Amino acid sequence: MGLKEINARVRRATEEAGRAPESVELIAVSKVQPDARVEAVLREGHRVFGENRVQEAAGKWPGFRERFEGIALHLIGPLQTNKARQAMGLFQAIHSVDRPKLARTLASLAQEAGTCPELFIQVNTGEEPQKAGILPADTDDFVAECRALDLPVRGLMCIPPVDEEPSLHFALLAKMAARNGLDGLSMGMSGDFEQAIALGATHVRVGSAIFGERDYG
Ligand SMILES: *Cc1c(COP(=O)(O)O)cnc(C)c1O
Repeated sequence: MGLKEINARVRRATEEAGRAPESVELIAVSKVQPDARVEAVLREGHRVFGENRVQEAAGKWPGFRERFEGIALHLIGPLQTNKARQAMGLFQAIHSVDRPKLARTLASLAQEAGTCPELFIQVNTGEEPQKAGILPADTDDFVAECRALDLPVRGLMCIPPVDEEPSLHFALLAKMAARNGLDGLSMGMSGDFEQAIALGATHVRVGSAIFGERDYG
């Protein structure tokens, strides 16, 4: 596959959904990928990337930022409160706001810095015990809590259970976002980003379909 084909598929899915081309942001998920592959995608002109670990991003992106202008980084993995300050310095968006303590920490750091990345609240739509995220039943209250802290809540994010039809989860997330007056929807990965776009995704997080399989070995 690769960047060109995925861009084309994103564009086609957006058109088919009757949506404006610029209404969907493609986040190229570069976690674990070798620098050479990331550099190739940068050279093709892409600038929006996702990482799931603060440490890994801190090791790899300052160097690329010296050589390529206009890079935007999205944190899509869990954030420990003791890494929140570092994350705020590296990322333009955080998709994993998943508990009150983290929201309060981000709020106090944002007050101090006078700026804050765009935030997405991660919702555990499948109510999976091992998975991070706010439960659907608690989401409205948590959105209100984040707003009361003056946090810039851009939208909601979900990672559907691997063995379930993702569309059901995308539709649920879209419904929860709408009822909270949020228009940002971070949903859809390599296997299901077109379905996510059909259901309103504004941010799709695509890794292996752009870069190839990740090698954890
Ligand atoms: C790794 C990851 C992705 C990308 O997954 P692919 O299947 O490689 O597209 C998307 N979202 C999150 C939260 C991830 O951790």
